[in-house]
Amino acid sequence: MKEQRRQSVVLVPYPFQGHVTPMLQLGSILHSQGFSVIVAHTEYNAPNYSNHPEFIFHSMVDRLQGIDISFLTLENIYDMNENCKDPLRNYLVKMLEEEEEENVRGDQLSCIIYDNVMFFVDDVVTQLRLLSIVLRTFSAAYLNSMLTILQQPEKYLPFEDSQLLDPLPELHPLRFKDVPFPVIDNDVPEPLREFCRAMSNIGSSVASIWNTMQDLENSMLLHLQEHYKVPFFPIGPFHKMAPLSSSTSILEEDRSCIEWLDKQAPNSVLYVSLGSLVRIDDKELIETAWGLANSEQPFLWVIRPGSVSGFQWAEALPDGFAKMVGERGRIVKWAPQKQVLAHPAVAGFFTHCGWNSILESILEEVPMICRPLLADQFVNARYLSQIYKVGLELEVIERTVIEKTVRKLMLSEEGKDLKRRVVEMKQNIVAGMQTDGSSQKNLNDLVDFISSLPSRRSLPTPVVGAIVNSNHIPSKCIIES
Ligand code: UDP
Repeated sequence: MKEQRRQSVVLVPYPFQGHVTPMLQLGSILHSQGFSVIVAHTEYNAPNYSNHPEFIFHSMVDRLQGIDISFLTLENIYDMNENCKDPLRNYLVKMLEEEEEENVRGDQLSCIIYDNVMFFVDDVVTQLRLLSIVLRTFSAAYLNSMLTILQQPEKYLPFEDSQLLDPLPELHPLRFKDVPFPVIDNDVPEPLREFCRAMSNIGSSVASIWNTMQDLENSMLLHLQEHYKVPFFPIGPFHKMAPLSSSTSILEEDRSCIEWLDKQAPNSVLYVSLGSLVRIDDKELIETAWGLANSEQPFLWVIRPGSVSGFQWAEALPDGFAKMVGERGRIVKWAPQKQVLAHPAVAGFFTHCGWNSILESILEEVPMICRPLLADQFVNARYLSQIYKVGLELEVIERTVIEKTVRKLMLSEEGKDLKRRVVEMKQNIVAGMQTDGSSQKNLNDLVDFISSLPSRRSLPTPVVGAIVNSNHIPSKCIIES
């Protein structure tokens, strides 16, 4: 197709690391398939253009200057959605006008692919009669649990303290304590429910793309597809399906930790990172520090500036900790995580269970200690420990428990079992990436699907509601049982 297909896609990422990364990876995947890729991004957390010379970037004026949006509030997210409406609409209108004026056979806008937290895009595309596809950057299991609870909230909410360890009906292996929403007084306040509904909706989108694998989540994807009634394209893991390995990091990576890893024995180091968003309190920092120190295992620990509430960085680390661990421990502000996980010295990952981190860990055959703190992380942690059995759940944040869990992962027979299973899991995922594997086939179908989308001008009626059954669009469900 490389020469003939001159279609373009506009990508709209949600400007946080765990969302920007998969969107840029998707951009690389689509670019390698012959599409030209335009990234319409907020000024906040703008991607580094020089890492992606293959993309065209468009910065949307987000009017968020002066707001600490790293401290995520619903208000911030809604403001961002509202503020970006005009900039995106104006940009698309200009693009369409130029397309028409030039009367070129060149790039033609096929569709807008947007992160489901940027739900404002649906208003814009509906107005302009453009087509859109939603990107899901998380697991199908997470969306399924969220949707199930939103559909029958009275069955789940509010709950009693005494129910915390009880199973959530129809949502094995989740318990009430794993409800994947921010919970306040054992309930999910209405504004948060409303936000989750907005995020789980797909509006007028004609399909959804997933950074997951059909072989891993087939039944869950099928179940969700019955609900959404549009084609699904699970083409993960994006970071391995993407041809480019250029950095998508928003923060500066401290590469000196790779030199430190080079000096460690093979399979000896625990990598510790809680991702780009969550915050812990100083008590948790201190318990983790002593747990790591007392485990006597080498560790590389990412403490992100601002990730300990009330502190700039790692000032709350206990006296005597640095002396006790000496050269055995290394702390950095931000690491080149994919390289760290791929390093032969790394044996385990103490993680918050963000979906990107999990996929990166599994694909490098690294078993995990699961310390979920937010949203989908609870679901991911349960699946890792109870279903896939490649992780140990850390239920109590206390130094002796942390020490014991680290030793179990790194030194015990149980740890070896986790390692064996993560190797198997990786092999299954890699099989899906081969020419006849599910992710590769779904990617081929996605390319055909986008290529055969009608331009908005040939649509007889506004796209809302009519598109799934349109003859112009392949209606076949990509996922088959
Ligand atoms: N990451 C990184 N360096 C770090 C910590 C994290 O590059 O020191 C990357 C990691 O590789 C992953 C992303 O940040 O791709 C975090 O995404 P995830 O979905 O795991 O969690 P989130 O940050 O969204 O909570």
